[in-house]
Amino acid sequence: MRIQPWNLVFLVCFIVYLAIRYVFARQTRSNEKGVSRVGRDGILIAIVSVGTLLLPALYLFTPWLSFADYRLPAWAPWIGALAMCFGLWLFWRSHADLGRNWSVTLEVRKGHQLVRHGVYRSIRHPMYAAIWLISVAQGLLLQNWLAGWSALVTFGLMYFVRTPREERMMSEVFGDEYRVYMRQTGRIFPRFH
Ligand code: SAH
Repeated sequence: MRIQPWNLVFLVCFIVYLAIRYVFARQTRSNEKGVSRVGRDGILIAIVSVGTLLLPALYLFTPWLSFADYRLPAWAPWIGALAMCFGLWLFWRSHADLGRNWSVTLEVRKGHQLVRHGVYRSIRHPMYAAIWLISVAQGLLLQNWLAGWSALVTFGLMYFVRTPREERMMSEVFGDEYRVYMRQTGRIFPRFH
């Protein structure tokens, strides 16, 4: 393994990220699905896994990606660590606020409730906002073109394909309640009113 301080910071944060997912995935395991729009979600999740799991793991544990190494200015990983901390906090809060309404793929469970409190009060996609932050942090912590910026590219693709589909699904299920909520909130930047 490339034992450099910022790589270790990334690794620890990454384990925290996976732990948050694991804890909430367990809590929602027994959910019964009402509406499911999985569609191409599986392919998108596989592509995102290459950027967020496979390439960072290859960079950290093998020499194979060393041809793409580069040096960032000394301040960059500090900004990355800050973005990572804020991103992980937002990631945790969005899971906690969604509670049993959370799912990895696009679906609405039986008894699904529209969440508008907590971090959902002014942003309607705080979990995606968190993943944007964590992806930028990955680029600023891992000093390798491929492993560093792969999450931003692959998650970006998923975000732009999935978000309109998710909003369409939520509008179909919740009707005017969701459309009003859309006017009151920003997608990934807060809207205060
Ligand atoms: N896009 C949200 C949630 C991602 S998890 C975010 O970035 O925070 C994806 C699932 O969350 C979807 O299948 C949808 O059923 C559910 N969901 C999204 N927004 C929601 C809301 N405001 N209230 C309840 N469930 C929501």
